[in-house]
Amino acid sequence: MPRDIQQAYKKGTRTFNGLPGSNYWQNKGIYNIQITAAPPDRTIKGSEQITYINNSPDTLKNLVIKLIQNIHKPGSSRNGDAQMDYLTDGVQIDACTVNGKSISFKENNYHLTWNTIRLSNPLLPKDSVKLSFDWHFKVSKESGREGMLDSTSFYLAYFYPRVAVYDDYHGWDRETFTDMQEFYNDFNDYHLSVQLPKNFITWATGTLENPRDVLNKEIADRLEKSMTSNDLIHIVTNEELIAKNITQQKDWNEWIFTSTHIPDVALCISDHYVWDAASVLVHDASQRRASVQAAFLDKSKDFHYMVGFAQHALDWFSHNWPGVAYPYPKMTVCQGFADMEYPMMVNDNSSEDTTFSRLVADHEIAHTYFPFYMGINEHRYPFMDEGWATTLELLIGRDENGKEKAEAFYKQFRVAGWINDKEASEDLPIITPATALGSSAGYGNNTYGKPSLGYLALIDYLGEDLFKKCLHAYMDRWNGKHPIPWDFFYSFNDASGQDLNWFWNNWFFSNNYIDFAIDKVEKSRKGFAVSIKNIGGYPAPFDLLITYEDNSSESLHQSPAIWKAQNKEANIQINSNKKIKTVQIKGGIFMDANEKDNFWKAE
Ligand SMILES: [Zn+2]
Repeated sequence: MPRDIQQAYKKGTRTFNGLPGSNYWQNKGIYNIQITAAPPDRTIKGSEQITYINNSPDTLKNLVIKLIQNIHKPGSSRNGDAQMDYLTDGVQIDACTVNGKSISFKENNYHLTWNTIRLSNPLLPKDSVKLSFDWHFKVSKESGREGMLDSTSFYLAYFYPRVAVYDDYHGWDRETFTDMQEFYNDFNDYHLSVQLPKNFITWATGTLENPRDVLNKEIADRLEKSMTSNDLIHIVTNEELIAKNITQQKDWNEWIFTSTHIPDVALCISDHYVWDAASVLVHDASQRRASVQAAFLDKSKDFHYMVGFAQHALDWFSHNWPGVAYPYPKMTVCQGFADMEYPMMVNDNSSEDTTFSRLVADHEIAHTYFPFYMGINEHRYPFMDEGWATTLELLIGRDENGKEKAEAFYKQFRVAGWINDKEASEDLPIITPATALGSSAGYGNNTYGKPSLGYLALIDYLGEDLFKKCLHAYMDRWNGKHPIPWDFFYSFNDASGQDLNWFWNNWFFSNNYIDFAIDKVEKSRKGFAVSIKNIGGYPAPFDLLITYEDNSSESLHQSPAIWKAQNKEANIQINSNKKIKTVQIKGGIFMDANEKDNFWKAE
């Protein structure tokens, strides 16, 4: 445990049994945001009032404000290159007040995506401060996680000035946004008002509070009906879009969305996206349903299935893995270019390959749990969310596409790139903070495939029931909070009643990888002994496939338990009086860096 992290445990904000400590705290913001958009004009005007509550024991002399839209400004530090269409003038702050007093908010030339407000009256523990911002920015022409989808469709994310996270183990989050990081946000309450010209629709994080003020009666009736309908309802069809009689015919409509205890809000705006909806039961005991919606271009074939896909995903995730009821009232999948999650929102590409569209939607919806429900710090520990989304994508994929197809895809898409990586020097321990990895090949490996295999190896070791009990303990303890990797490790140790440090140390803290070899096969008293060398060192499970001279065969599953005492070599005793012909190590999804030495043949 690094010494900065140790401090949090010493201060009692976190505990060695994996529970939040008695001194645990986190700060909170209450955001009242009003924005105005009128595509094709790319200017977004915003105004917001923030109440920021300091629950920490510290007196805050400064506040750190994130201005993520400045990633589009020339000169901003960026992970990748930027085309002209990506660049904008960034965020212009037109006014800023602190406790009602106007202050000049200067841009910081050294790190454009955040800045500090010096408080003339420090913010005391258990006290709050009121901030306000008026701002405007131009939507980027090139659309990634946000931006212009077409001339009159926008996806807005990271669009409002927000107070950065101040936490118990790292203090202020002063991470420069380079387009690599995704989320690390406090759990805030949002009242979002979106002013749009008539005939524009918006889909956003939160509950639409005033559908009858903004939609015409028939459309509002359909939306209401969809909230209890299992069957797909076309809320707005292409013909209706062309007829331009969907919204109230006032010059401007004000769309109001509210959400509480949620890490972020995002929205999609269009005057020509069709709109589908249905709902799905996510919590049996309370009979709670969640609304499932999709907004897309009518010509996108795959998106016509999207509500059905998302209904299945919400149902499956709620009832199987992670087996926690979908925590929000709604999920909207919007067509864009990002393949990216936001709370209650997904921004996904359209694809000719509907199976792939579905996999991506499953993955992004899975992010509801990690990072959003669990408040993960993705800047530092993205394996705590992407590793899970990758695992859940495989688990739901087995149900949707069958085991063989899902695993073949997982191997090719999530594992092969890492295990066959020519840049293996960049293969650093998963625990390495992503802030230290930059955009190396190691970043992707540590974030997706490697940790996902680690979770799956542990399922193999503990068994599904015990693993799920541990996962639920971790999720119950830390949902709506800010867990760090040690909270996860300790929670599993505590809930399983086992010291799993041998596994964590190996899979998450070492440079190991997967590479087994058959060393020798020898006659023994009761049959024969197979010696396996663990060259890579990872405690991965595998099957030992044995064929006998009579052409019969058997497959012996080996759980990671065989690597618990030591991870150099394992001897597997096989009781049989038959003569052996071949022995083979079959790792399945646990791909081996060198498969050539995984096979033994009798002379
Ligand atoms: Zn992801």
